[in-house]
Amino acid sequence: MTGNSAVRMALNRALIFLGPPGAGKGTQSKRIALRCGVPHLSTGDMFRDAISRGSELGRVVQPIMERGDLVPDDLVMKMVEERLARPDSAGGFVFDGFPRTLPQAMQLDRILGKMGFGKPIVVDFSVSVDKLLRRLSGRWTCSVGGEIYNVYDAPPQKAGICDADGGKLFQRPDDRAEVVKERLAAYERQTRPLAEYYRRQGVLDTLDAAAGMEDVSRALGEIVKRAEGQNGRL
Ligand code: AMP
Repeated sequence: MTGNSAVRMALNRALIFLGPPGAGKGTQSKRIALRCGVPHLSTGDMFRDAISRGSELGRVVQPIMERGDLVPDDLVMKMVEERLARPDSAGGFVFDGFPRTLPQAMQLDRILGKMGFGKPIVVDFSVSVDKLLRRLSGRWTCSVGGEIYNVYDAPPQKAGICDADGGKLFQRPDDRAEVVKERLAAYERQTRPLAEYYRRQGVLDTLDAAAGMEDVSRALGEIVKRAEGQNGRL
């Protein structure tokens, strides 16, 4: 059953997702990390966690995130390096929302080299701006387990309540229309050039992220399996 998106599979390196906010990277990266039994490392979640804990890092990044801007590279890299030093990262990991700038990507290459990993698998989620706006403005997240819903395309059974654990759903403050515009602009300016960077390294795959969730999961599974099969040659 090669196409079954629930079957476990192997991943022994870094999996990176490119694509604008709202392309579905969060949902898909969580699913594939679970499937591969490796950590899901979302820099956005780590920053949101720092804000809710009221830490020094949280206080610095909160206004930046509220504007829809990117957090400075040095803060991002310090946090990522600390996270990768934990033992659960030794067998591979799935990044979500990282890297987002060329300096982050270049520094990550050096870190992966030091950790003894080969080249990452990089998947670019391509989707139209109309679809993105619908996804972002309709996105609600569970305050307990982090499940993601969309009030238009994948609503919970009961409005405002998570199907899985009954947690209250909330809308991220940076999913408001004016901040979304800024986040998309930051993506175009700072993150889109990464596709070319990884294409030159021969590790970039593109995926039609406008398809349904199960179809995207299946396509992603095939990309990872194919890339892992080539592990020795990359
Ligand atoms: P996300 O949840 O990935 O959409 O990230 C939410 C916000 O966190 C972004 O709009 C940025 O302000 C910040 N952020 C997350 N990851 C990064 C990163 N790799 N580089 C810079 N800023 C980031």
